[in-house]
Amino acid sequence: MLVRFWGTRGSIPVALTSADIRRKIETALSLAIAKGVDSPDKVRAFIDNDLDFSISQTYGGHSPCVQIETGRAEYLVCDMGSGARAFGGRIMSAQKSGPIVVNVLMSHVHWDHIMGFPFFAPAYVPGARIRIFGCHDVIEKALRLQQCSPCFPVDFSRLSAEIQFVKLEAGKAVDIAGFRVTPKLQRHTGDSYGYRFERDGKAIVYSTDSEHKLEDLSETQAFVEFFRNADLVIFDAMYSLLDAVSVKEDWGHSSNMVGVELAQLANVRHLCMFHHEPAFNDERIQSVLNETIRFEQLTRGARALVVSAAFDGMEIEV
Ligand SMILES: [Zn+2]
Ligand SMILES: [Zn+2]
Repeated sequence: MLVRFWGTRGSIPVALTSADIRRKIETALSLAIAKGVDSPDKVRAFIDNDLDFSISQTYGGHSPCVQIETGRAEYLVCDMGSGARAFGGRIMSAQKSGPIVVNVLMSHVHWDHIMGFPFFAPAYVPGARIRIFGCHDVIEKALRLQQCSPCFPVDFSRLSAEIQFVKLEAGKAVDIAGFRVTPKLQRHTGDSYGYRFERDGKAIVYSTDSEHKLEDLSETQAFVEFFRNADLVIFDAMYSLLDAVSVKEDWGHSSNMVGVELAQLANVRHLCMFHHEPAFNDERIQSVLNETIRFEQLTRGARALVVSAAFDGMEIEV
């Protein structure tokens, strides 16, 4: 199973600025001079081996959109944040024959999770089939509303694809695109839902926009069961622990440390931090990742937990 991240930022998309890029170049060139890098081969090796990810690359700025490859002639994706525009472009260039079929799992309808849909090219293709799954009653209403005049030029009713809405229930597993999919209610303003995907003995959990109160033992236990033995958990780690327990308590998001604790309790193999704070630059996200890796090493039990921070374009083989 391959997971591909098209959008990883929370709340609002962000873009690198000229100043950000200049700072990366300046840092990289200064380090290169110190290292005596003086040939194209050395440049490539230097970028690969000596530069931090936050200097040589970027965590990216699209809001949530995560594809799980199905191995079939249909697509499966979680959320329609701004990353859905690039995902739709990939589908259009890859589709050689037959109708486009896309299955979308919606965590909730906050704007950062639906804003890519009006820019999702397959929605404009006659004969394409888009099935939108979710536990909220308001998904269709929200998608139609965001394309209403005067806020958007193309009304939802003018989309050419066949678009179907399918209501799911928390705790009730369904089969979608060859996966057994189980939704779980999460603590978030207006509710959100996580999804556990299972196939061939492997499990992936998509759990974003979810605040955890570890002192609520029954709730914690329910999440441990939801994450149990997962090969990958994509986790809302928007805040640092300090933010999560102070100023931003009850804002509906979680922290890196809580992610590690839950993943360790659940015997998870890989925790991927997701829904990055829009105010954080690449260096800040990298430092949160480094802090999280150190915390995992200090608290490690019988099994090491892989910790990563999602970036736009990242692929994880499960
Ligand atoms: Zn969000
Ligand atoms: Zn939200």
